[in-house]
Amino acid sequence: MDIIVLTCLFVFLLIMKVTDYIKNSKETIFSFEIIPPLKGKGIEDICAGIDPLMEFKPPFINVTYHREEYEYKKMGNGLLKKVSVKKRPGTVGICAALMNRYKVDAIPHIICGGFTKEETESALIDLKFLGVDNVLALRGDPMKNEAAFVPTEGGSKYAVDLINQIKDMNNGQYLYEETKNSPSNFCIGAAGYPEKHFEAMNLNSDMKHLKKKVDAGAEFIVTQLFYDNEKYFSFVKKCRDIGITVPIIPGLKPLTTLRHLSFIPKFFHVNFPEELSNELEKCKTNEEVQKIGVEWSIKQAKELIKKEAPVLHFYTMGKGEAVRKIASQVF
Ligand code: FAD
Repeated sequence: MDIIVLTCLFVFLLIMKVTDYIKNSKETIFSFEIIPPLKGKGIEDICAGIDPLMEFKPPFINVTYHREEYEYKKMGNGLLKKVSVKKRPGTVGICAALMNRYKVDAIPHIICGGFTKEETESALIDLKFLGVDNVLALRGDPMKNEAAFVPTEGGSKYAVDLINQIKDMNNGQYLYEETKNSPSNFCIGAAGYPEKHFEAMNLNSDMKHLKKKVDAGAEFIVTQLFYDNEKYFSFVKKCRDIGITVPIIPGLKPLTTLRHLSFIPKFFHVNFPEELSNELEKCKTNEEVQKIGVEWSIKQAKELIKKEAPVLHFYTMGKGEAVRKIASQVF
């Protein structure tokens, strides 16, 4: 019992808000995002990717959330049945494990898709009890079989609605409760898109929606990955011009496989600058892509640090080795 109390206390003492880490640091901070392993895999699979990155002292690690997917499974009678499957569950448990094992803050991603507001409230209560003080609030993508995002009945339609709900909890206002309750203390992050969110009519309208998220209570922004730093610098300037003053954390993802060359532009709706695509066109193997991808990210990272980006946030997507190579050159 004493050990449990001590562990909880130790974790508790380390908890800080992302905005405080940024405020207290004179240098650009290193951080990264991981995705939960496929269902059935162990925590060792994630730790194997994280261990080599800990020497760069990330104060926080993000953990993505993956909603359910529909699949057709063959039943005993030979007929197919449509079932709902969560292929990468465990975000909250992983956050607790990371805080315990590495003494860092873990930032769970919270999404609207697949959740009623009440389920969201329960998830936030779990996080509050665990001592998680930072969350990244997102809408989530449409499900694989959906052409457009469909909100869950009784759930949030846009990330801003989710931010409003979290902010209400921070003010002690829970759903359907007439009296105020124990307030939560979440530092809320939101997503930003230097090359525009794929559904937005144009960058300016997307940025107006981003401003609404900040006005509702988002205290920091994490950007979609990008390969052209000018896009990030121009995005930051546009944000400042419309009155968004919160820290804007750039997201970086090194290219490591031939598959990335088509998958990343298609899935994340980003462009490679011509200087990069000209080099990538010559690649015949994954190793060649990785060499160029890592060199490119190092160049991006050095420039972002020089221009005083608050944090460099790496998308590891389960592959920590390339990120380690980059971090060892720039941190
Ligand atoms: P929103 O801010 O709600 O915006 C969605 C679209 O609606 C935009 O086009 C916006 O311009 C528009 N819009 C916003 N508000 C309004 C309004 N009031 N009226 C009309 N239009 C509006 N997905 C996951 O499933 N799990 C994750 O863990 C995850 N992590 C991510 C981390 C980062 C850093 C980023 C950048 C993305 C992540 N995503 C994740 C993907 C994200 O869920 C998708 O990009 C999703 O399509 C949009 O999410 P959002 O929070 O930006 O949505």
